[in-house]
Amino acid sequence: MDRVRPPRRALESLSPYDAKHLDAEVMLASNENPLNLPGELLDRLAEAVSEIPYNRYPDPMATRLREEIAEANGLEPANVLVGNGGDELIFDLVLAWGGPGRVVLDFPPTFAMYAIDAAATESMLVQIPRRADFSIDDDALFARLAEGDVDLIIIANPNNPTGTLVPETTLIDVLNSTDALVVVDEAYFEFSRHTMRPHMSRHANLAILRTFSKAFSLAALRAGYLLAHEDVIRELTKVRQPYSVNRFTQAAARLVFRERPVFESVISQLLRNRDVLVHGLSEIPGVEVFPSEANFVLFRVEHASSVWRDLLKEHSVLVRDFSRTPGLEDCLRVSVGTEDEVRRFLAAMESIMSRRRAAAHFGVAAPSARDEGEERA
Ligand code: PMP
Repeated sequence: MDRVRPPRRALESLSPYDAKHLDAEVMLASNENPLNLPGELLDRLAEAVSEIPYNRYPDPMATRLREEIAEANGLEPANVLVGNGGDELIFDLVLAWGGPGRVVLDFPPTFAMYAIDAAATESMLVQIPRRADFSIDDDALFARLAEGDVDLIIIANPNNPTGTLVPETTLIDVLNSTDALVVVDEAYFEFSRHTMRPHMSRHANLAILRTFSKAFSLAALRAGYLLAHEDVIRELTKVRQPYSVNRFTQAAARLVFRERPVFESVISQLLRNRDVLVHGLSEIPGVEVFPSEANFVLFRVEHASSVWRDLLKEHSVLVRDFSRTPGLEDCLRVSVGTEDEVRRFLAAMESIMSRRRAAAHFGVAAPSARDEGEERA
């Protein structure tokens, strides 16, 4: 056949997810831990990996990891589901609780995968835009919940990319006002230290999502987990891919989870680096910086896309450009790196912004990497 029939109509409105996987000397675009696993863990992982029977499928439910996560959280293994990163679990949740004729609620600007998965599954996505300070518009939220037709609510807490926390009282009110499944995405929990875990026993409709990709330096291997009522987990096991978490990942995630106190000092250092980052940015004229409870910082600067480009092309610093996202006009997001990376980023920003100020003073457009590139071309 010289042609192929098209896929579902729903895909017409979708475009492939662009993770902006670019290379730079200073990588501050994906909220990863800037440090690899500690050497001692790498050695132990190499040992564990040498014992993997590669010819055998992995344990579909990652039983041992599941048991360890359950125990650490004072739950039963039946309350835990391990996935190929939080991304896979979000997809499973939307597949099971969303779908045609089902209503999914989120709060943009927020993590883009919620809306992408809702579109892919033909769920009806209702978006309640955040206020100018990125807090949740509770009047609009509770008015919408009163209609009684919402099936799934996803709230990132802290929110990506704004870094905002929702007051716990608001989350409790949401749990009390609806029988929708309420997913609190705590991907950045290890940085914010806020969790809804204590409320699980009272609310069968609460699910909590966590990941190994951020604080625990395991973004490469893809591991995340969900804490929820056993009935919720059971439903999800009907739609999930049975072998999505491979043996390598299970071994690494178990090791890291058992040794998680080792990461405490790195996390504390990253929080100190975040303070330096926020303070440094706030000192630069023309930059508005938003407070953050996570390992990244959102800031607003005029002509953000050209600043993004100059950071990359002139200083080899990669951050994330959100300036075309509704509600985030002129916003960039920078992840918290090592002390040295934070210093390099701030120096780059100061240089870009002072050149702009000088150019504005003389009434000429500031030269940018692109302009120079075009001149050369
Ligand atoms: N939730 C939020 C809010 C995130 O920011 C991310 C990663 N960017 C994820 C979930 C998914 O993380 P992963 O798939 O790496 O576990």
